[in-house]
Amino acid sequence: MRLCRFNSDQLGLLDGDQIADVSAALDTLPAHRWSAAFADPVIARLPKLMSTLESRAASAPRLALGAVTLEAPVARPSKIIGAPVNYHAHLDEAQQDRDLHQGRTVHPIDEIGCFLKAGSSLIGSGATIDLPAGMDRVDYEGEVAVIIGRPAKAVQAADALAYVAGFALALDMTVRGKQDRSMRKSCDGFSVLGPALVTPDAIADTAAIPFELQVNGAVRQSADTSLLIRSVPELIEMCSTFYTLHPGDVIMTGTPAGVGPVQPGDEIAVTSPDLGRLTLRVQ
Ligand code: MN
Repeated sequence: MRLCRFNSDQLGLLDGDQIADVSAALDTLPAHRWSAAFADPVIARLPKLMSTLESRAASAPRLALGAVTLEAPVARPSKIIGAPVNYHAHLDEAQQDRDLHQGRTVHPIDEIGCFLKAGSSLIGSGATIDLPAGMDRVDYEGEVAVIIGRPAKAVQAADALAYVAGFALALDMTVRGKQDRSMRKSCDGFSVLGPALVTPDAIADTAAIPFELQVNGAVRQSADTSLLIRSVPELIEMCSTFYTLHPGDVIMTGTPAGVGPVQPGDEIAVTSPDLGRLTLRVQ
């Protein structure tokens, strides 16, 4: 299943270049003023909702993907987590390139753990972002993201995939500078997620998800998640040791080698045979 959110909190199932509008299923959700939980209400109920959504999709109104505004497939997650230098080839380039390391020692992920990005930086595929004023350099980082499906606290890696709702493509946009990561990676629009949350049953091999990043049609990054230094289950174990992961929480699993700066007018695309196509325009 490829679950997407579009046009101000409408719910759809992505099917090729069409969306089946299953928003009517949202009527079954409880109406809270202030939700008691951090959880994304759709993702938290996904195991129960999936059969309903699939049966509704058969007769649901169909919209052209190109005619809607996609939002991130997760609404307002409690945490967007990032994994720093989690591919060996990116570790090598980060250690060798002063523009990347900015004079800092690049520590392995096992030493420094993960970081957080502001929830307000989250946007969907197809959006346009403004480069923040006064920043020397902003880079793309193409990544695969994992989305948590149920509360996870002190989970062992061997059990971790049972806590996964699905996967999506992501861009972890990043200012290269002296600032702390939590500022450099949290500008408006700097967390792009989509086009849809793809459930594990729709992925050929969740331990080896291939993906590629193009800037204006030229390939700049190409990898698969079997090359991660810390795998998805290991990241869930690491993060859930420190804090509870809630349904809808996003872990961006890290970027491979080939990061580079963006310029106004650039069109960035991250593609995967399993996860679809995520785009971002920079102005
Ligand atoms: Mn990253």
